[in-house]
Amino acid sequence: MSSLEPPEDHRICVCVRKRPLNERETIMKDLDIITIPSHNVVMVHESKQKVDLTRYLENQTFCFDHAFDDTASNELVYQFTARPLVESIFRKGMATCFAYGQTGSGKTHTMGGAFTGKAQDCSKGIYALVAQDVFLLLRSPAYEKLELKVYGTFFEIYGGKVYDLLNWKKKLQVLEDGNQQVQVVGLQEQEVSRVEEVLNLVELGNGCRTSGQTSVNAHSSRSHAVFQLILKSEGKLHGKFSLVDLAGNERGADTAKANRKRQLEGAEINKSLLALKECIRALGKNKSHTPFRASKLTQVLRDSFIGQNSSTCMIATISPGMTSCENTLNTLRYANRVKEL
Ligand code: ADP
Ligand code: MG
Repeated sequence: MSSLEPPEDHRICVCVRKRPLNERETIMKDLDIITIPSHNVVMVHESKQKVDLTRYLENQTFCFDHAFDDTASNELVYQFTARPLVESIFRKGMATCFAYGQTGSGKTHTMGGAFTGKAQDCSKGIYALVAQDVFLLLRSPAYEKLELKVYGTFFEIYGGKVYDLLNWKKKLQVLEDGNQQVQVVGLQEQEVSRVEEVLNLVELGNGCRTSGQTSVNAHSSRSHAVFQLILKSEGKLHGKFSLVDLAGNERGADTAKANRKRQLEGAEINKSLLALKECIRALGKNKSHTPFRASKLTQVLRDSFIGQNSSTCMIATISPGMTSCENTLNTLRYANRVKEL
């Protein structure tokens, strides 16, 4: 086997990260029902009621490539997820890292895309950690002679439409040419040469993402945010790392009450997350058919799912509380399916 290609079973890595109970949950006396008994096992201790109304716990166990408890830092999570993929983009690879989970479970915290108004506050997320290693490798003896340039893009997919977060949310068209190349027409590609410049892009994009919104989370939880670091050699694509902060996977809390806009949003998110699962599975199985056209998300990430040199990691983020149990189980089941052969 060529050493340049990760072994097949390493092309998809699925990890779970549990966040700590937050203040609100602690005040509400929500119970922490998640334990991580070993480095790759997650247990959900679900509270059930017997017919006689006594309570008992039902344990469910899930296995992943890695499981991180609530003491894990972004750096540690990075080491086991995105870090092993960084070098592949210098060898013309396409690497992708997804944060998947319920709203409030820690996707944006993990990716480092929280908008705080201060770039240094989000310097420890996966965006920054990938950028740091990309610039290290770029200047290393092994790769400096390639004379690669690095560009950043940042866009959002909402309701099946693409918006450029580096260009005032300009709505962009996605085109597929005769050679099955997918292009987001007019997407801003900003050249970057230092981590600080990458963080400035993230901050700019996040500012754009939230503008005109009353509640930051209400909007960001309904859209997918895609941040990419692109390597180019003499103006041509060399490799690409896509970092995706997915829309919240929770079902509409009360679909009967939700307005039509919310229902459509929910249906679109569902469709794209289902398509994503199938595309990653197809990559894992080396299937010849990848249903990337099934959603805008998978269509724009087409490069990530095809080719011999594509690899993906998924970080499924979960809330620890009993009140989130159903969403947590849905997240764990989805993450399990992605990996299942
Ligand atoms: P999401 O993007 O999935 O909706 P966030 O990343 O915004 O969720 O996280 C919700 C809240 O929980 C934020 O205030 C965030 O800082 C906090 N949080 C999330 N994950 C962790 C963690 N691992 N450790 C500490 N705080 C966290
Ligand atoms: Mg978020």
